[in-house]
Amino acid sequence: METTITIKKRFAEKMRRGYPLIEQAAILEHNQHIQEGAMVTVVDEVGSFIGKGYYGKQNKGIGWILTKYKDEQINEAFFMTRIQAAFDRRKQLFDDQTTTAFRLFNGEGDGVGGLTIDYYNDYYVVTWYSEGMYQFRDDIYSVLKQLATFKGVYEKKRFAQKGQYVEDDDFVMGERGEFPLLVKENGMNFAIYLNDGPMVGVFLDQKEVRKSIRDNYAKGKEVLNTFSYTGAFSVAAALGGATKTTSVDLAKRSLPKTIEQFSVNDIDYEEQDIVVMDVFNYFQYAKKKGKAFDVVILDPPSFARSKKRTFSAAKDYTGLLQEAIAITKKDGVIVASTNCSAFSLEKFHTFIQEAFKKEKAKYQVLEEYSLPNDFRTIKSFREGDYLKVVIIKRK
Ligand code: SAH
Repeated sequence: METTITIKKRFAEKMRRGYPLIEQAAILEHNQHIQEGAMVTVVDEVGSFIGKGYYGKQNKGIGWILTKYKDEQINEAFFMTRIQAAFDRRKQLFDDQTTTAFRLFNGEGDGVGGLTIDYYNDYYVVTWYSEGMYQFRDDIYSVLKQLATFKGVYEKKRFAQKGQYVEDDDFVMGERGEFPLLVKENGMNFAIYLNDGPMVGVFLDQKEVRKSIRDNYAKGKEVLNTFSYTGAFSVAAALGGATKTTSVDLAKRSLPKTIEQFSVNDIDYEEQDIVVMDVFNYFQYAKKKGKAFDVVILDPPSFARSKKRTFSAAKDYTGLLQEAIAITKKDGVIVASTNCSAFSLEKFHTFIQEAFKKEKAKYQVLEEYSLPNDFRTIKSFREGDYLKVVIIKRK
């Protein structure tokens, strides 16, 4: 069933230039109730064709344009060309023995918004961001079977309200894995669980930052890793020769998970500190004890709600940085990271400037990182390029 969606004038121009997300606010009207997975033709107010895509309600937007060609059919052959191109672009990554986990297909960056595919050492994980996208399941798995050799495939459904993960047995086909599955990233080991909730144990978009911490900032340093999750940055720092790492995360599971990541890298976890605590309480504790660090890593979620407070990166990053500055030694380094797509790198720089001004400290930007190449992005969809990492020297 095909449906026509008419886009408001002020949105039509940017969509014609390649902006692929169909935003709720952009819709003037559509001619009937639309079902998840329905094909949609997007037109402007005078009825001229903009693109063709599918309806699928996500956290942001209600669907994606997939082609600007009226006659192109959205079918298995369509997905075959997109996924084949994604494989071709990442050929070298498959040959690299020191990195066995990476993103194979990055949504709109590879031509299909609402779908990602990650590779973990002979296993694939397909993430579906809407029920609509999930309607193409058979086509996508048929293509994957034809193009990839794998041991097994798992999937994550993130299409309950607000992109929340749908609890399920995530196994799809092939053989089931034995977990933890060990993967390598620039020679570091990570323990991965493909069937244990929405997150698998490591965020692949930070690989360049982990490598830089290991190679450039860790040797002989005391490193504090806040919002540490499974401690991947701490592992990188320890492997780079940090004298000690301190990992702080609120979640109880972070303790055994971090011990495991250290252990699979032959690092004695008993020589590291792993603290289950609210980061903001840890800052108070550190200040009271007069503790200061050579390197402080900040990688908070975009939004977090704990018992006492809510944290929003867009509103509260400046304050977070102030706390970090207060316990960073002179000439020490702050790794300021955010995956929040709601503000730009320029804006992030104003947060940094403001925080240092308020703390009456000087700084110098040493390095900046955004998404690595396997997380392919397109210029016409800037919010897809969400990762911003600024490595700062406190002077
Ligand atoms: N930096 C991590 C990823 C962070 S994911 C990495 O590179 O692997 C976000 C983490 O922040 C989650 O593990 C969550 O438990 C933690 N978190 C959220 N709010 C927190 C708070 N107030 N204090 C400490 N940890 C928090």
